[in-house]
Amino acid sequence: MFPRRFKRWAMIGACVVVAAAPPLGFSLFIDAHVQASAQQTLADYAGRMTGRVETMMRGGIAVLAELHDTDVSACDLRGREAMRRAVAASRVIREIAVVGPDGQCASSPVASRYAILSEHVPVNATISVFVTRDEQGRRALAMRFQPTPRHRLTTYFLPESIGLDVLPAGWRQHGLATLAVDDGTVFEAAPEETELAEPLGEGVIIGKRASERFPVTGTISVAKAAVMDDYAGLRAYTFAVMALFAGLVTAIAATFARRHSRLSDDIAAGLSRGEFVPYYQPVLDVASGRLIGCEVLVRRRRRDGTIESPAHFIAQAELDGQIVDMTVRLMHGVIADLGEHYARHGKLKVGFNLCAQHFQDDTIIRDVKRIFANSPIAMHQLIFEVTERFPLVDMARAKTVIAKLQALGAKVALDDAGTGHSGLAALHRLGMDIVKIDKVFIDPITAETTEAPIVDSLVELAKSYEMSVVAEGVETLDQLRYLRGKGVDAAQGYLFAPPLPASSYISLVEALQKRSARRPTNRTGSTAPTIDAA
Ligand code: C2E
Ligand code: CA
Ligand code: CA
Repeated sequence: MFPRRFKRWAMIGACVVVAAAPPLGFSLFIDAHVQASAQQTLADYAGRMTGRVETMMRGGIAVLAELHDTDVSACDLRGREAMRRAVAASRVIREIAVVGPDGQCASSPVASRYAILSEHVPVNATISVFVTRDEQGRRALAMRFQPTPRHRLTTYFLPESIGLDVLPAGWRQHGLATLAVDDGTVFEAAPEETELAEPLGEGVIIGKRASERFPVTGTISVAKAAVMDDYAGLRAYTFAVMALFAGLVTAIAATFARRHSRLSDDIAAGLSRGEFVPYYQPVLDVASGRLIGCEVLVRRRRRDGTIESPAHFIAQAELDGQIVDMTVRLMHGVIADLGEHYARHGKLKVGFNLCAQHFQDDTIIRDVKRIFANSPIAMHQLIFEVTERFPLVDMARAKTVIAKLQALGAKVALDDAGTGHSGLAALHRLGMDIVKIDKVFIDPITAETTEAPIVDSLVELAKSYEMSVVAEGVETLDQLRYLRGKGVDAAQGYLFAPPLPASSYISLVEALQKRSARRPTNRTGSTAPTIDAA
């Protein structure tokens, strides 16, 4: 078992992790969201660039088709004039050239000085596009129209400044826009990579849009830092809100942890001062009124004499493991209180409450052996109650521990039966000897009650499994009569006695003993002490 302090720090650590997870997760989510939406924005801007090129090329196709119709292929004066006029009328075409079997002619004499930089990427059966460079080194897109194998018409588009004006101002200094044909050759870029304020590096966000009609793609890359800067306000705000939330959760958790640890420390101090003492609630045979024994119920007797019920500390002691030490001390206390009397009344039983902690390993077996082996209280006088309120995590191990307790001669009872989820059949497989029906099922029984379904079925099942049945919290004679009618074996409750301090319980034992000594055989022929409650 871990030391309590370690557990406390582990708990605070877990709280910090739990509290920090949402803000961290949320800020990662915001980053991912910002990045995805920036990517979408850039793709939209790239789409505008691609759209401009599409318009340009559609215009080019119209011009080339018209020139083809007027048949400029002869390159005569009329044809050259038609090409020159077409160029003059267009805002985007710089040059038109005809290449036929007789050589080349163009709307101006410079056309031949274009160098081809890319593949001819087809648009359809007669049209292809490619990238050219003029004698000044300027790149431009060109389109070739070849309706017959013998003639081809080529337009050279004006290199257009695509610019980054489509981008938000803060991104322009850190962005790069390109237009390329589908073999990857760039025909327009802004700015030239050498003109960037600083190299874009690895952290870039890229948005792309390919034209659906032409083999051209626009791409915009912007440094991630510049994009994130834009959202810095939003990110700072969400982070602040989340950090506040984390702080709050941590503070609440720390308060809880502190309160728990204060209670833990207080219990530890009480244990070392011997403040946790056994109280004894008598358990009676329902048919005969005979005293069967008692259940040990812990109480804290503070130095000022006040008595505290288990509600104040038992949950914490079970949580932090101090219940194991507390139970050992109670066992020693019981021997000191009852040893002498139980040695004389060998049939009286004493029941101890165990909890899930006790079923994790064999510690309880060693403790019981060590404490009771040579004590005035015999093993067969011991009952161990296992509550059904909290599930036993490892049923197989619990079964082993139960079997070992029984092998020592003790009996094992299922406490608070009916309040758990396991069902009596499953619990019967654990090999219990006794079923204790919880007070909540006894409470509703009145003089008018003719059936109490849960009580009735628990009794019936227990009997079929040959387990004996004890009813808890019996407060009225009507309840006792009902239980007796149903064949319940034993009962405890305020009708007979509340949990008593040792001296009162011992007085009761001895008084009943004297009475049964005066009355050698009672109604059932037993010589055990009886209470004539019913
Ligand atoms: P439990 O084991 O079900 O014990 C029965 C509880 O019902 C006791 O409460 C008892 O005082 C109360 N009781 C008995 N008859 C009547 C009645 O007729 N009317 C009413 N109103 N109450 C009645 P208590 O002593 O406060 O103990 C509460 C719980 O604390 C116990 O429930 C048990 O689960 C736990 N507990 C007590 N002592 C120990 C212990 O030494 N070890 C462990 N692990 N748990 C303990
Ligand atoms: Ca109990
Ligand atoms: Ca109970």
